[in-house]
Amino acid sequence: MSSRVAVVTGSNKGIGLAIVRDLCKKFPGVVYLTARDVGRGGEAVASLSSEGVTAMFHQLDINDLSSITAAAAYFKDKYGGVDVLVNNAGIAFKVADDAPFAVQADVTLKTNFFATRDMLTHFLPIIKAGGRVVNVSSFVGVRTLNMCSAALQQRFRSDDITEDELVTLMQQFVDKTKTAEHKQAGWPETAYGVSKTGLTTLSMILARRLSKERPNDGILLNACCPGWVRTDMAGPKAPKSPEEGAVTPVYLSLLPAGATDPHGKFVSDKEVQVW
Ligand code: NDP
Repeated sequence: MSSRVAVVTGSNKGIGLAIVRDLCKKFPGVVYLTARDVGRGGEAVASLSSEGVTAMFHQLDINDLSSITAAAAYFKDKYGGVDVLVNNAGIAFKVADDAPFAVQADVTLKTNFFATRDMLTHFLPIIKAGGRVVNVSSFVGVRTLNMCSAALQQRFRSDDITEDELVTLMQQFVDKTKTAEHKQAGWPETAYGVSKTGLTTLSMILARRLSKERPNDGILLNACCPGWVRTDMAGPKAPKSPEEGAVTPVYLSLLPAGATDPHGKFVSDKEVQVW
């Protein structure tokens, strides 16, 4: 029988690296640190090794479809699939960045929503029975949901929103920013927030689909917030260390065999949050 395997995206630094470190200590199997840049990934694996922690490495740029499909084929071939997938890779423009809002919307949604969706499209079919899928979203996505028009909020909270409808809505946001009509269309002025509202909603849609299509496989898929964490993204003033930020993603990655919940939820500080 193949080893069990855990894969963490964007894990050469920040919260992703802390998730890998903790999984290496707690997950009964092989843990893959992945990075879009082989050099940065290799350095991260070496730094863990100097701490006595052994992680494997695979290149994975979630914005590159061929990188996603190559990685999925590798894990399928070598391990028969994946037991734990943590979609952690994400980007955020700095508040001071003067890139036009339409550019920020396009670039941010591309990675945080569309590329993470590509990961899920190609990896969900190879998640093994009993697998755990964790999408690192954000509390900002909840705040942003509450700033959307009533009509949009109703759709994001509904049980019947489809993946196609969500993708159309996310694309509509990006398109509306190009003509500065997003506010009239009910969207708030935050690209990062909308990307994470989309990712949390996508998590709920895909969890419902797993329950329907693979009811006996016991896979649990959730979105979570790591908290406000001191990383290159959030800066030095955030209250949590990367290790503290890893706690909830690792908890969801290691939900015990036979557990039936949480599933399709947004989880923060190990607690299911109101959506
Ligand atoms: P960092 O900026 O420290 O790390 C982000 C990681 O994602 C880096 O390894 C980066 O790689 C990687 N990444 C970015 N784009 C891609 C890509 N296309 N393919 C593969 N990897 C990529 O951020 P954090 O550790 O703070 O953030 C991790 C996650 O947590 C993100 O999803 C973020 O939105 C979320 N989050 C963070 C919070 C915080 O307070 N820090 C709060 C709430 C959510 P590279 O080094 O090559 O750029």
